[in-house]
Amino acid sequence: MKILVVNCGSSSLKYQLINMEDESVLAKGLVERIGIEGSVLTHKVNGEKHVIEQPMEDHKVAVKLVLDALVDKKYGVIEDMSEISAVGHRVVHGGEKYAGSVFIDKDVMKALEDCIPLAPLHNPPNIIGINACRELMPDTPMVGVFDTAFHQTMPKYSYIYPLPYELYEKYKIRKYGFHGTSHRFVSAETAKLMGKNIEDIKMITCHLGNGASICAVDKGKSVDTSMGFTPLAGLAMGTRCGDIDPAVIPFLMNTTGMSIKDVDVLMNKKSGILGVSGVSSDFRDVESAANSGNERAKLALDLYYHRVKSFIGAYTAVLNGVDAIVFTAGLGENSATSRAAICDGLGYLGIKIDPEKNNIRGEALEISAPDSKVRIFVVPTNEELMIARDTKDIVENLK
Ligand code: AMP
Repeated sequence: MKILVVNCGSSSLKYQLINMEDESVLAKGLVERIGIEGSVLTHKVNGEKHVIEQPMEDHKVAVKLVLDALVDKKYGVIEDMSEISAVGHRVVHGGEKYAGSVFIDKDVMKALEDCIPLAPLHNPPNIIGINACRELMPDTPMVGVFDTAFHQTMPKYSYIYPLPYELYEKYKIRKYGFHGTSHRFVSAETAKLMGKNIEDIKMITCHLGNGASICAVDKGKSVDTSMGFTPLAGLAMGTRCGDIDPAVIPFLMNTTGMSIKDVDVLMNKKSGILGVSGVSSDFRDVESAANSGNERAKLALDLYYHRVKSFIGAYTAVLNGVDAIVFTAGLGENSATSRAAICDGLGYLGIKIDPEKNNIRGEALEISAPDSKVRIFVVPTNEELMIARDTKDIVENLK
């Protein structure tokens, strides 16, 4: 069975065609600048790049070009579109309705529309992408996999905000959590690495990329997570501030005359590691600036590590103990310095990294010291594969 995984942004589309017999990637690519001058499709097969520059007025044209690339005589990987058994779509917000992935039908499309107020930037392009695929592949089953779904198992006391309860009832203002597909994938992979049943493990999964979140996973279920109503909450991130005193917002508006939109942009795009360091939102740049003696870069990193560490402490308490800490995503998979700094001083909790084992990049490996009570792992995330696995399961059960 071959599954096409699609992740649509407002002007971009990422895709992978996965052969589910061995879970190998047959082809993958990225369409950029959809609806903007300079549209380009970069299609990759076996590491070889094929760049197709062509005007793409909308997502339907982009999907059509992707399908053409997949069946192309020169750089295609399938003979005919009918070889694609199903399409798995990444959808950011499933609200309270979806605690798992779903076969997309008319009712689901309506529910996705209903979730737009909760994710006004993300859900509309996801919906456009699904519609484009449905038009071009009307007989191919489509599945929606939600970033929020994994966190629907959180107990009510962990997702309700201490605001007037009517706001939850009326507007569904609550913690949802994101990166759920990644937290679910790495927690399942970690259980395999430990040779244990996921039902028997308490884990803290740290997705540390440009966006970052932490999740407390008990028996394979999310019980708390650092992101909230939106992906702005929790840890400091590349450009996002994470948790701050909410009173900063009216203070800024009153004292500087900033509009609510200005403050929103400030918190989402100009804060975090970029805002504190003044150097970059990319951890590689900030690490190298800190190494050259830039004090603000060092402060940004120290603040970042401190927050991750604080969440690990908090979630150890929430879980009443922890068996494994898992690092994933850009920084978590690649930065030995960050992993060491985060785990430094957590000896009291029985968390001890092995400096030599920690000296790895992008491999699934245990990095804890032999006498560490808590096991520590690096597990590269693979959201596309998780989406493909869910899509396969759902499609097989349709038969
Ligand atoms: P992601 O959002 O998961 O793609 O992660 C992207 C972020 O990972 C980048 O902004 C980098 O800051 C960080 N990153 C990737 N590779 C490294 C590395 N070798 N060392 C430090 N940070 C890295």
